[in-house]
Amino acid sequence: MFIHEIRIHPKCSGTYSLETDSAWSGSPPSEFGISASVRSASFRGFPVGGASHPAALLRDQLEEQFGIWASLAERNGQFLENTSMLYWRGEDLVLTAGCLEKDSLDLRYETELLRIEREKLEALAAASLEISCVGWNSEAQCVCDCAESAGFILWTHFIDAGSPIACVSCGQNVPLYRLPESVRYPLWNWASAYRKCDWLNMDCGFGERWASCQMRDADSGLMREGRALASMLESACGIPVWVYLYNDRTVRRFRARCPVCGQELRRSEDFPQFGGIQNAEYVLMAFLCPECRLGTNAPF
Ligand SMILES: [Zn+2]
Ligand SMILES: [Zn+2]
Repeated sequence: MFIHEIRIHPKCSGTYSLETDSAWSGSPPSEFGISASVRSASFRGFPVGGASHPAALLRDQLEEQFGIWASLAERNGQFLENTSMLYWRGEDLVLTAGCLEKDSLDLRYETELLRIEREKLEALAAASLEISCVGWNSEAQCVCDCAESAGFILWTHFIDAGSPIACVSCGQNVPLYRLPESVRYPLWNWASAYRKCDWLNMDCGFGERWASCQMRDADSGLMREGRALASMLESACGIPVWVYLYNDRTVRRFRARCPVCGQELRRSEDFPQFGGIQNAEYVLMAFLCPECRLGTNAPF
């Protein structure tokens, strides 16, 4: 992933400073002249005593507004899920987060809602957001750069933090911010719910059976919503959008039937457009129902 640093340097009136104590070591800033317990409480966001100090109030408002903006950017696919951290560094409020690409935060991917929230933050700070890519790590998730994709697949899993949409032709991630705006937040929400189900499934404890049924049953609440979103995306993009159906059962017979329409499933080798998926070590979409746009790794 590409690590980004998003920084804002609030321009204050000069009558007070947002700078943290130079001897700061985990305690709240001390320049406000309030008791340690009150400072501690206000620093954690509780509306008590010293939090009404203009500097503390502004700092809380900045953190809150930055958090709103970051949460929307994550749902827009611009930050990988659960990778961001917001903190003060001197007088700067800084967010570090992982992104799929070096240019994930490019302004061309900004939605109207994100622009409004960014401008609120910048107005509050009387300063602009400064964005830079500061590094990368080997948890790289490759991103699709096909000029034309033969289709998409809706699928994710418990440790996936990227987009729930993969390209059929190359098998790589298609960032949400490259998809039509109308489907980004619903897809992000669905992926988040799916990953929670997969966590319950992988933890093999409480909720395992319920969660695995949600992922396996084409007619569960989770998968009905997933299939509806896939068909929305298909209408918006004009290319087929397939849905992966989880299957942890053993292969009993070669030909199995689609759980939705009852037709025989077909092998994905018969569909040359599934190039990227077939080359994967683990054949995600080994069997397909072209009618219902469902695929699975083994017959049901
Ligand atoms: Zn691709
Ligand atoms: Zn079918």
